[in-house]
Amino acid sequence: MKVLKFGGTSMGTASRIKDVAKLINDGNRKIVVLSAMSGTTNSLIEIADYFYKNNASGALEKTNLLERKYIEVINDIFEKEEFANKTKEVVHGIFDYIRSFSKSVFTIFEEKAILAQGELLSTNMFQFHLEEQGISSVLIPALDFMRIDKNAEPDIAFISENLKRVLKEVPKVDIYVTQGYICRNFYGEIDNLQRGGSDYTASLIGAAIKAKEIQIWTDIDGMHNNDPRYVENTRPVPMLNFDEAAELAYFGAKILHPTCILPAKLNNIPVRLLNTMDPKSHGTLISNKSIKGVIEAIAAKDGITAIKIKSGRMLLAHGFLRKVFEIFETHRTSIDMITTSEVGVSVTIDNNRRLAEIVNDLKKFGTVTVDEDMVIVCVVGDMPYEQVGFQAKIVSALKDIPIRMISYGGSNYNVSILVSQEDKKKTLNALSDAIFNTN
Ligand code: ASP
Ligand code: MG
Repeated sequence: MKVLKFGGTSMGTASRIKDVAKLINDGNRKIVVLSAMSGTTNSLIEIADYFYKNNASGALEKTNLLERKYIEVINDIFEKEEFANKTKEVVHGIFDYIRSFSKSVFTIFEEKAILAQGELLSTNMFQFHLEEQGISSVLIPALDFMRIDKNAEPDIAFISENLKRVLKEVPKVDIYVTQGYICRNFYGEIDNLQRGGSDYTASLIGAAIKAKEIQIWTDIDGMHNNDPRYVENTRPVPMLNFDEAAELAYFGAKILHPTCILPAKLNNIPVRLLNTMDPKSHGTLISNKSIKGVIEAIAAKDGITAIKIKSGRMLLAHGFLRKVFEIFETHRTSIDMITTSEVGVSVTIDNNRRLAEIVNDLKKFGTVTVDEDMVIVCVVGDMPYEQVGFQAKIVSALKDIPIRMISYGGSNYNVSILVSQEDKKKTLNALSDAIFNTN
């Protein structure tokens, strides 16, 4: 069986929803994972925020507005009054549930319960649409089998056991529809897999049932070899291995959530990135195969801060790096890039929430310098170190650009370069010219 995930834009309008229904109706059995319609999760966050700030009337106004949008979508999707009415009833129930929070004390639990409604809305509408079209399908509630543990990590054993149980309990159909993103936590409360988490759901389901393939359907034709917003003539990368895809997903290619890679990789299930607007295009196939000695793509991650700690005490000392890293751990801030010299170390972070505290603590160890508004540009491919030329090609392409940090060797799949935000476009284009000759 295959697992197909459709994101918010694929669910974004009545006509897109109808297109997805046509696309999946090919007689093969599959599990279809859906996100909320695009914009809905953001609206739900706003609604929750109104409740949280004790502004029930603001929350209700926003809720009613969102409900009206759904009613319009329903009117556009359904042909038969009977199905439209059934769907409206369920959708109305969901909005009544959201409205009911005006009467409760508002905590993180209530917020998560509200956020879960987006995927419940899209999947219910979709399932009724499939029924109206006479397509053999059933809705399997993610809250019956998706669970995270005490550390907010997916509980793989639970998911696998319960998904299999649920699949046995429902009638045998062609299409099993379920919600992305939402789950229960260790205490059985409604929770989620973080923003953009529907890709993760698809991958966890794929792993649980040992799917033949996981397909992530979006509105572009796969991962591109550079950022089309900054570089002309980019093209989709036909094949990547899991490590390359993980680097690209983490360092900027927004098309795939990075958490989605690991369950697929561990279970050796290929992930295909496909385009709902152009279903015949090849897209990108991610598997454990890689093309040796080829640079596949370039990506960039914005909003990076570089921190340098220079200390005479690092010279010939042991335990220095541990102490430095401990500070980041204490402040629950993860490090992306590291470069070292004998008397200093530079690291990057993508989250400045605790920057002041981190810098303050680091000052115990030496002189601290902070550079904000930096960008990590990441060149990804299979670049074994024995094969000379990759690093030279990358560095020489950047001969006119000030490079703040440069890193290779953490894996063979990535050369990372840190430049300032203002040099981002120039860097991406220079690399593109040198590596892909696109301009
Ligand atoms: N609806 C959720 C979000 O907007 C999950 C997803 O789309 O993957 O983050
Ligand atoms: Mg997404």
